Amino acid sequence: FATVVNAMVKAIRVHQIGGPEVLKWEDIEIGDPKDGEIKVKNKAIGLNFIDVYFRSGVYKAPALPFTPGMEAVGVVTAVGPGLTGRQVGDVVAYAGNPMGAYAEEQILPADKVVPVPSSVDPIVAASVMLKGMTAQYLLRRSFKVERGHTILVHAAAGGVGSLLCQWANALGAIVIGTVSTNEKAVQAKEDGCHHVIVTKQDNFVERVADITSGQGVEVVYDSVGKDTFEGSLACLKTRGYMVSFGQASGSPDPVPLSALASKSLFLTRPSLMHYTAKRDELLETAGEVFANISSGVLRVRVNHKYPLSQAAQAHLDLENRKTTGSVVLIPDG
Ligand code: NDP
Repeated sequence: FATVVNAMVKAIRVHQIGGPEVLKWEDIEIGDPKDGEIKVKNKAIGLNFIDVYFRSGVYKAPALPFTPGMEAVGVVTAVGPGLTGRQVGDVVAYAGNPMGAYAEEQILPADKVVPVPSSVDPIVAASVMLKGMTAQYLLRRSFKVERGHTILVHAAAGGVGSLLCQWANALGAIVIGTVSTNEKAVQAKEDGCHHVIVTKQDNFVERVADITSGQGVEVVYDSVGKDTFEGSLACLKTRGYMVSFGQASGSPDPVPLSALASKSLFLTRPSLMHYTAKRDELLETAGEVFANISSGVLRVRVNHKYPLSQAAQAHLDLENRKTTGSVVLIPDG
């Protein structure tokens, strides 16, 4: 009898919570797809700030050790028994749960992946699934941006920020972006920001008041958290929307209801998972992102590529605010 030995694949593993140095390049065995599953050989993996939260303990990671990563594009190499609708050779993308994208190959539930249109480059798709779907639900569903709205986007030159600014501009909004450096300001302008505030030089609350003649903005998209939350509330007009969707600088302090009462503000702390949980929502959201890429509304900035084995360096650069646009990890070899 021949013994079936599952081939090993290379992956980044986390054995303990900590800094970028805990990301280890190792061999793992992933086995074969079971009912409802497919095996995917990754072509490109999107790096996201959420990967930093899980690695560093801001979000509770699954049991240790784990393979990080929540966004990738790859080719189907095997399908589970009896599975229809997916074939070996399909190019598919996924974003969100399950974690495990930092690997040469991974097993995924077939209903979590979407087909990648042939018009969209796989590396572009891998850098925009999670970030682009986030921009979709933030601008179209958590708050619906309309022509003539004035909006404030923090970290406007980042992965999500770059897409938010381009898309909001195309929707007819007046876009104010914040960035930390003049170099990032150049990119934010190119991405459709009508006003860019460089936070190392200017106080963003005062600048927003100047720009809006004291009126404030309809909505703030705040992914920075601790350092910006309070100022963001101050930038809102009466009955404005505070969309707090991340905490790159740390979790914001608790908010008393009185902080909202002074201007009848709305506050939401949304998550992509809840806006793409149903299969039809996932397909629609991803479809809108891909359509906006094909039509030129979104120009995806794949500004940094790292070999997957160098994921620690990629994390270091993202955390140190050295990156702009999207960052992708490419499986070696
Ligand atoms: P980014 O490329 O935007 O990187 C983070 C940026 O945040 C930095 O480049 C930096 O821009 C800014 N920043 C401000 N303060 C700090 C700080 N103290 N440390 C590090 N960065 C800081 O990352 P992503 O595009 O991957 O993610 C953007 C945000 O969106 C994250 O907070 C992420 O958690 C959130 N997110 C939330 C989702 C949701 O559904 N809730 C889904 C996807 C992403 P600058 O130097 O210009 O200030």
